[in-house]
Amino acid sequence: MDEDTQPGDGNDPEDRTDSTQSRTDSEGDAQSHSERADPSTDSGRSTDDDSAAQEPADREPVTAEDIDIEESIGPTDASSIGVGDSSAGSTDVSLDEVVLDDDGDSQGLFDDLLSGEPIFENKEVLRPSYTPHELPHRTEQINQMATILVSALRGETPSNILIYGKTGTGKTASAKFVSQELESTSKKYDVPCEVEYINCEVTDTQYRVLAQLANKFIEKNQEVIETELDELKQLRSRAADDATALVETRFDTVEAVADRIEQLESDHDEMEPVPMTGWPTDRVYSTFFDAVDYEERVVVIMLDEIDKLVEKSGDDTLYNLSRMNSELDNSRISIMGISNDLKFTDFLDPRVKSSLGEEEIVFPPYDANQLRDILQHRANVAFKDDALTDDVIPLCAAFAAQEHGDARRALDLLRTAGELAERGQADTVEEAHVRQAQDKIELDRVVEVVRTLPTQSKIVLFATILLEKNGVHNVNTGEVFNIYKRLCEEIDADVLTQRRVTDLISELDMLGIVNAVVVSKGRYGRTKEISLSVPIDETEAVLLSDSRLGDIENAQPFVQARFDN
Ligand code: ADP
Ligand code: MG
Repeated sequence: MDEDTQPGDGNDPEDRTDSTQSRTDSEGDAQSHSERADPSTDSGRSTDDDSAAQEPADREPVTAEDIDIEESIGPTDASSIGVGDSSAGSTDVSLDEVVLDDDGDSQGLFDDLLSGEPIFENKEVLRPSYTPHELPHRTEQINQMATILVSALRGETPSNILIYGKTGTGKTASAKFVSQELESTSKKYDVPCEVEYINCEVTDTQYRVLAQLANKFIEKNQEVIETELDELKQLRSRAADDATALVETRFDTVEAVADRIEQLESDHDEMEPVPMTGWPTDRVYSTFFDAVDYEERVVVIMLDEIDKLVEKSGDDTLYNLSRMNSELDNSRISIMGISNDLKFTDFLDPRVKSSLGEEEIVFPPYDANQLRDILQHRANVAFKDDALTDDVIPLCAAFAAQEHGDARRALDLLRTAGELAERGQADTVEEAHVRQAQDKIELDRVVEVVRTLPTQSKIVLFATILLEKNGVHNVNTGEVFNIYKRLCEEIDADVLTQRRVTDLISELDMLGIVNAVVVSKGRYGRTKEISLSVPIDETEAVLLSDSRLGDIENAQPFVQARFDN
């Protein structure tokens, strides 16, 4: 079982195998997606894993001010996580001063940092890439999967399975756990059963999915052939000396052995791997078909983030895979789709939908107590003894429970809190570090969301910020639109209609960047009141880092003009 590691640009003009499928969603833009193919990110979500390591060494550790959380943690807490030891008064000595005051003692840049007790025993355990061996509170789902997949070990075709659940509910971790168990049991009893894992966020076109599968099976077939060839060649030379060597083999003569060798060698050579790009899809499909059918086996194909594949490339892949069994002679395949989007089957061809959804398993969000257990399991391995104060895990669990019960978020929080404590050279991770981590993660998320907004949305958001900065709170759509229009003129951008701008505001609302509430104005009808839900200065800075918006030199006059109108 392997992660998807194939880049490839899926440039395949004739990417159709089935004439009954007349969809024309071109994969021509697949090129742009190859760049973001990063197999190291579990499910492709960006995390702030390395932000700690990238902090320049000549800077103070991040303090509460840096991320503007004074309000939430209060000045006392903030100072206790400053530089150096925790004794009062020494917290605002910067590294610069330490170096300047140095009177000859060879106290180097890293000495202070090194002298602290490490907090982590094994930080890797908290990273998203780590696959835990124990998954508390997923026993039921894991047993459901196992009950269905056990048929594979009996040589029968398991029903296809669809797994649903929001992000961070343990779908990928559970599926990988089950597939490892399935493969190890199949080895133990020597039954031919294999699991192929594909992350469709990375492998997001039919060409790439089929090519990856084809090449996986070609590789496996060739390994099997090579082993058999070695044995046969030894047998041939033994039999040449002594014909009794063939007793109890399936060969009667040395010639029969030689024929088989010849056959295998030509099979081996005929298996041509699929290139990253360039073949028509029906050729890729038939190459996969032949490769998988070369041996008798049951294959479980796990398509993780299957909703991304359908969104990007339609359901042709699923259609083709789900009808394969009726044509395969030796092998059988079963599909396990994993989706974050509960409604993605609405877009499927009804035949695909009914075939794929033979069995459905739902992963509900974790509650705070369950998240506590999950964190506790990991923390035991990740941290030194007594490195966590008692309220750290419950607080991480409580924050993540609000975040739709996301275990990934809970683990991120715990890891980030540990990193902040480590950077502040604290002896233990405390509640304040968790709050600080929560703000840091939230801010990172906001920065990322804002940074990747389309320009028009950025201008709308910038208009809202300008109004707020000038003390105009709970602005209405019309006011935002007026400023927006002036900003567009200033930077020569198209001006959208007020209706479109209202839609963009709704989108910003859904992303949690603004809060828009409909208020009734009595006989004047209804309007939306918009307020910012994100830290204003950081958001403005991100917007201004966009080269187009950065051109707006002095925005003050626009807002002034509002009052003149
Ligand atoms: P999903 O695929 O549903 O988005 P993941 O399986 O990737 O979620 O889980 C997110 C993170 O939380 C991973 O690091 C995973 O190891 C961890 N995790 C999720 N559920 C559990 C659990 N029950 N026990 C331990 N760790 C878990
Ligand atoms: Mg996942």
